[in-house]
Amino acid sequence: MTALMQTYARLPVAFERGEGACLYDNQGRAYLDALSGISVCNLGHAHPAVTRAISEQANRLVHTSNLYRIPPQEALAEELCGLAGMDRVFFSNSGAEANEAAIKLARVYGHNNQVKMPGIVVTEEAFHGRTSGALSATANPAIRSPFEPLLQGFYRIPYNDLAALENLADQQDDIVAVLVEPILGEGGIIIPDEGYLSGIRSICDRQGWLMMLDEVQTGNGRTGHFFAYQSEGILPDVVTTAKGLGNGMPIGATLARGKAAEALSSGSHGSTFGGNFLACAAARAVIRSIQTEGLLARVRELGQLVQNAFTERLKGVNQVKAIRSRGLMIGIELARPTTTDLVAAALQRGLLINVIRNQTIRLLPPFVISNEQALKMVDVVTSLIKEEKA
Ligand SMILES: *Cc1c(COP(=O)(O)O)cnc(C)c1O
Repeated sequence: MTALMQTYARLPVAFERGEGACLYDNQGRAYLDALSGISVCNLGHAHPAVTRAISEQANRLVHTSNLYRIPPQEALAEELCGLAGMDRVFFSNSGAEANEAAIKLARVYGHNNQVKMPGIVVTEEAFHGRTSGALSATANPAIRSPFEPLLQGFYRIPYNDLAALENLADQQDDIVAVLVEPILGEGGIIIPDEGYLSGIRSICDRQGWLMMLDEVQTGNGRTGHFFAYQSEGILPDVVTTAKGLGNGMPIGATLARGKAAEALSSGSHGSTFGGNFLACAAARAVIRSIQTEGLLARVRELGQLVQNAFTERLKGVNQVKAIRSRGLMIGIELARPTTTDLVAAALQRGLLINVIRNQTIRLLPPFVISNEQALKMVDVVTSLIKEEKA
């Protein structure tokens, strides 16, 4: 690993094969994957339909260019717009890029409406990606400050705080958009109050602002709806997604409707790889599988099972502060930062988990996990937490 830049502190394990919710390391040891590559391999590893779509497409054509028509990209755009209630899509290769497109779209939209310095409202604890623009929208000072000066023109308010948004609306007249996550992912699986998204929607409608949702992590079925906003019965103006869309093939998407869908014009934005044949073939197979395998209902059912099991098993355990979940997006917040390396301890027991800021255990298991595997995940996590007590 010495030839790699040291951007990641990696665990001492190398996987070489996967199947469903299981990964196998180069010693042949099996692990239960409760993270899905951070909500990417939502259909599990080596999903047959996705594998077939990728191999068949690779046999025919991987890439041409956005200088030409790309029929699978057009088909994917129609399918995604149909699912999301949007009109148009711009394809890129990652979540950060999907947000970059949204930020650029909002600025253009502002200029088109004669706003000289169009501002975008973002929230505390937000994570929008690591490129300079997306990082400027991100909150965490630890990952921002080494790279300053960052992009200007963002207003930051507390998450889940409609009054703060109202206040800002009274004070600033150069705001053109609000960019938020429907549930904070990297921020600790924070689920806002019911009515938060519809409240943002009303304020945006009144002010003429674009409501832009970052569904990079929450999208593609993770919460039991294709997009998380669909559980509140509202439509944003812009939605970004990536992670689970290609089940491991890199693809990002920025969806928009109405006037927002017309903001980016010919030549104003682009991507060499974005929406190429291979990525789009994978994403189409993902969408088809989510639909034909009834996975949204399954995510809701599994989510309930896991939430109930944790609630029961962790009852009265005083180092647990809160159990938060929506579908298969699960966070267990501890009362205080852990003193042990829970990720390493879980790995030793054959379970892959993630811990946010030493305090919130994050579980994002694949949708194809069995009830038995889900309960095993609950079991291992429960014993790790109970052992923390010492
Ligand atoms: C992961 C994530 C991103 C960044 O996606 P990349 O593909 O890593 O660039 C942006 N927003 C949210 C909410 C995320 O969870």
